[in-house]
Amino acid sequence: MSVAVYPGSFDPITNGHVDVIKRGAKVFEKVVIAVGDNPAKKALFTKDERVEMIREVVRSLRTVEVDAFDGLVVDYVRRQKAQVILRGIRTISDFEYEYQMALTNRTFAGDIETVFVMAHEEYSFVSSRFIKEAASMGGDVSSFLPREVEKRLKAKFKK
Ligand code: ADP
Repeated sequence: MSVAVYPGSFDPITNGHVDVIKRGAKVFEKVVIAVGDNPAKKALFTKDERVEMIREVVRSLRTVEVDAFDGLVVDYVRRQKAQVILRGIRTISDFEYEYQMALTNRTFAGDIETVFVMAHEEYSFVSSRFIKEAASMGGDVSSFLPREVEKRLKAKFKK
């Protein structure tokens, strides 16, 4: 069975992430969304909140699962008996970071391939970071997020 793990911080999940997940689900028999903490980014939502939100968003996708993980992605991929790390690329600026990460992961686990998917150009500029910044200042981010996520984000900034 072809299984891909889509790791990320998903803080929160955006329409760009959802597009990557749907494209991955067309190619692989199973996609496991693995929610982790990126040490370079301070999370707004807890890991549990992020997992819960993603579960709501992908509920109708039968071959997609959501899980939390710690540690090295390649170790998690092995535990899942998966062969592929799925990542999304937006712009050239994503490329360098993704390239370094893919090759680093390859030195840890030469048998695991990183596969990149390009989201629809409509989402090419959508990032969790800018959505959070805009939402914190009262901007309307409804076109970038699933509805349930937008509600949670609004509630977060009301507090
Ligand atoms: P990380 O902290 O690991 O980068 P992110 O949640 O920011 O986690 O991103 C997870 C993956 O999804 C990355 O490969 C990122 O490039 C990709 N991604 C995020 N937003 C988009 C988008 N709008 N279009 C395509 N890929 C995206």
